[in-house]
Amino acid sequence: MNKSELKKMIQDAEMVLVGIGEELESGFSILESSQIYEDLKRKLKAEGLAEENYEWVYPCLLQQAEKESEEARLLSDFYLELKDMLGDKNYFIISMNMDSMLEETGFSVERYVQPFGNYELLQCDRACTKELKDAGEMKKNVLQSIRNGTELLASLKKSYCLHCGSEMVFNNVNAGNYLEEGYLENWKRYTKWIEGTMNRKVCILELGVMLNYPSMIRWPFEKLGYLNQKASFVRMNSVIPQLTGELAGKGISVRTSSINFFLER
Ligand SMILES: [Zn+2]
Repeated sequence: MNKSELKKMIQDAEMVLVGIGEELESGFSILESSQIYEDLKRKLKAEGLAEENYEWVYPCLLQQAEKESEEARLLSDFYLELKDMLGDKNYFIISMNMDSMLEETGFSVERYVQPFGNYELLQCDRACTKELKDAGEMKKNVLQSIRNGTELLASLKKSYCLHCGSEMVFNNVNAGNYLEEGYLENWKRYTKWIEGTMNRKVCILELGVMLNYPSMIRWPFEKLGYLNQKASFVRMNSVIPQLTGELAGKGISVRTSSINFFLER
């Protein structure tokens, strides 16, 4: 399969379901090659602070690092290409990743869900309350403290829960007690959208999803592809693109990295 064939398949469908997996994650590896991380290390050294006490600021630097890294630029180009290909189709995206790539590349929050959470909201680590707080201010403070020559990193404070005093952490699966409230509204939208695919010509596109949590995307996508007579199914993966027997003859397996595929000119 090539890009124009995929494009045609999407155009022919009434609905497009996209699953994005770990192969497309913009993880902490991009942090290491970024300028903002260099700046952080320099400042820690200058103040004689141990880096392990400041690992909590890493997620605050991700968005900035995404702007600086070549790896992240490729990912961002991939998302823009995907967005272009989906055009004004009725689509929905489910992503296993916690990065902000979908948001950064202009996808509407009403068209995707990140069940593992992301780095946009803060929650109490003990989940004493279900209140969620926007993480924007904390991120801004951290960046400012790193960049401002006169401000000391040592005076940078973590955020604490107003109710129980526990640390405020990012609202994702890494939290001590992950509050699923952060994505539930979008999850409801997603399941409703899935119900609407019944007897519809739906194109199911699974991109770079590994086998770590198959119950989130791989298995339900396979089931949907198998049960819906009008569905088309594409599994793109550079490591495990194999299809199950039920999808033989119906599904298309593409052994490649989605980035290479989508950015092929
Ligand atoms: Zn609390």
